Amino acid sequence: MNIILLGPPGAGKGTQAERLVADRGMVQLSTGDMLRAEKNAGTDLGNRIKAVMDAGELVSDEIVSSLIDENLARLDAGQGVIFDGYPRTAAQAGTLDGILARHDRKLDYVIELEVDEDALVERIVGRYTCAKCGAGYHDKFKQPKVAGTCDVCGSHDFKRRADDNEETVRTRMAEYRAKTEPIIPIYDARGILRRVDGMADIEDVSVAIAAILDGK
Ligand code: ADP
Ligand code: ADP
Ligand code: ZN
Repeated sequence: MNIILLGPPGAGKGTQAERLVADRGMVQLSTGDMLRAEKNAGTDLGNRIKAVMDAGELVSDEIVSSLIDENLARLDAGQGVIFDGYPRTAAQAGTLDGILARHDRKLDYVIELEVDEDALVERIVGRYTCAKCGAGYHDKFKQPKVAGTCDVCGSHDFKRRADDNEETVRTRMAEYRAKTEPIIPIYDARGILRRVDGMADIEDVSVAIAAILDGK
């Protein structure tokens, strides 16, 4: 099973991907995570993309598509993939078709998380992750069971993203509307688009996605 999670920044893609990884053993391929790893490692590529990411603009199609291709090549054929934050432009959607064909994979579903834009700023400015294992949290909507301790790995170290501020969020949303939203009809026309109410509680969103993947 190979799926795309689609939706604006803060829609819940990473949160739902984390659950699919835990519940179904799927592999999450997040271009945002890959790019942040490059940025933090201070590689040539990382230094080139830092300003673009910090401004909330999109990194070039060539860079993200080659990251996806490289990461997909490392997986076993039987491992299902969740594309999280990719594709984000029509060009990337076209490239992904070719990449999947080369890796003998087919796209089963594109799940669009529908959310009110007003809710996204609050979700994003309250977002943080475990610095050790990457588990996602929120100041208000998803607090650790024991305050200050990661539910998954027990670490007390958390971090916030440089681009998770109100100003950058506006740019990211505009990028989403202008460049990413237009790819939705492509998948709708293929009959693989499914829409889920992303304003529901995290658990309810997971249930809705599970129903789609299980064909219920
Ligand atoms: P969010 O989940 O909040 O939308 P991501 O972690 O997916 O954010 O992406 C963070 C940033 O990384 C984006 O604002 C953009 O600069 C860059 N990025 C991630 N994925 C892509 C992509 N597929 N194409 C271009 N840029 C990307
Ligand atoms: P994305 O990957 O689409 O940018 P995230 O999954 O990182 O979004 O979610 C953004 C923030 O909102 C995180 O702090 C997360 O804990 C929280 N969140 C995710 N889904 C929901 C939801 N359904 N209701 C409330 N908060 C949510
Ligand atoms: Zn952790």
